[in-house]
Amino acid sequence: MTKLLLILCDGMGDRLTKGKTPLEAADSPNMDRIAKEGICGIMDTVRTGVRPGSDTAHLSLFGYDPLKVYTGRGPFEAAGVGLKLQDGDVAFRCNFATLKDGRVVDRRAGRAEHGLAELADGISRIRVEGAEILFKKCAGHRAVLVLRGEGLSSCITDTDPESSDVIPNSCESLDGEGASLKTAGILNEFTQKTAKLLSDHPINMERVERGLLPANIVLCRGAGIKPNIKGFEQRYGLKAACISATTLIKGVCRTLGMDVIEVEGVTGHVDSNIAAKARAAIEALKEYDFVFLHIKGTDEASHDGKFDLKKGMIERIDREVISPIRDNVKDTTIVLTADHSTPIGIRQHSADPVPIAILGDVRVDQVDRFTERDCAKGGLLRICGNDLMGVILDISNTAKLFGA
Ligand SMILES: [Zn+2]
Repeated sequence: MTKLLLILCDGMGDRLTKGKTPLEAADSPNMDRIAKEGICGIMDTVRTGVRPGSDTAHLSLFGYDPLKVYTGRGPFEAAGVGLKLQDGDVAFRCNFATLKDGRVVDRRAGRAEHGLAELADGISRIRVEGAEILFKKCAGHRAVLVLRGEGLSSCITDTDPESSDVIPNSCESLDGEGASLKTAGILNEFTQKTAKLLSDHPINMERVERGLLPANIVLCRGAGIKPNIKGFEQRYGLKAACISATTLIKGVCRTLGMDVIEVEGVTGHVDSNIAAKARAAIEALKEYDFVFLHIKGTDEASHDGKFDLKKGMIERIDREVISPIRDNVKDTTIVLTADHSTPIGIRQHSADPVPIAILGDVRVDQVDRFTERDCAKGGLLRICGNDLMGVILDISNTAKLFGA
């Protein structure tokens, strides 16, 4: 059976800056070879005109319609840090933040990690009426909260105001039902108890002495329950592995039952050891039917509005990932694409379709460069991300027949 390799460069699609996209400006001969020897197109990863999050885009590309199965970011963050969710759990994505005179002065507590593990440890011992608290620190200033108990609901608002110089939000029920009213009450009690614990915590005294902002409140957002979805292997009969440095993406893949392969030296930033990720993907293809390789640096550079950094990251991916994969991977359908566009000019995700090239048993088209505008002239035309699995299963001759 033909194996499948999906290479996804996060936020790689773009708009024009001085007449060119970063992909157009980049010297990326190996990506261009995939375009030239394969079939190309552009893709709306969720739906035409829908600005995708990374989590919803990934779900869609793996064949799960996010408009039907997505309940919030929290559960994926929790799965990403290895918290196993049970049915009925409500998970949140959290930030350690800094409160002064009742107002949020920094939503990320200065991004300073000093002592946060110890604070997280203390928070995980907080008790509230009606639910068990699971709290785990993630990378940087981030953490995950899981509320476990009877009759909870994710139909509630965030406590994170997502801006500074404002007071934290009180959590409210969105539907007025008993379960959400109860959950909102629990989250508000948790937030108050956390603030009390942190306000005079020795770690925060220490942080202030060091000239760092105190981490004296935990702000929560993205409440969600464990999505009710069929595993990837069950669904497609493919043994699947994921290689990613990003908690959220690892969480999406773990939720689908994929094995997550950890690689040393990966950071999820532009400095990541992506050559090691490429080696891990090549190795994983010996054991797995489907390997998903995720590279985050392109999106990081986009959110920072740095054109040259994004162009440079694309060139590094071309040399350190695409080139060795082209040389070492045989009998495999290879897909190169992105999960969404993150245009430099707006520094956020947009609904602009992403370029896609597929190498395998395909009807090779006339496209010879892997860019947004070149791929738009390719044989795949414009596809929906939710159809991608069907397209590549067909190309690898493993799709089920519809009808007789
Ligand atoms: Zn993304």
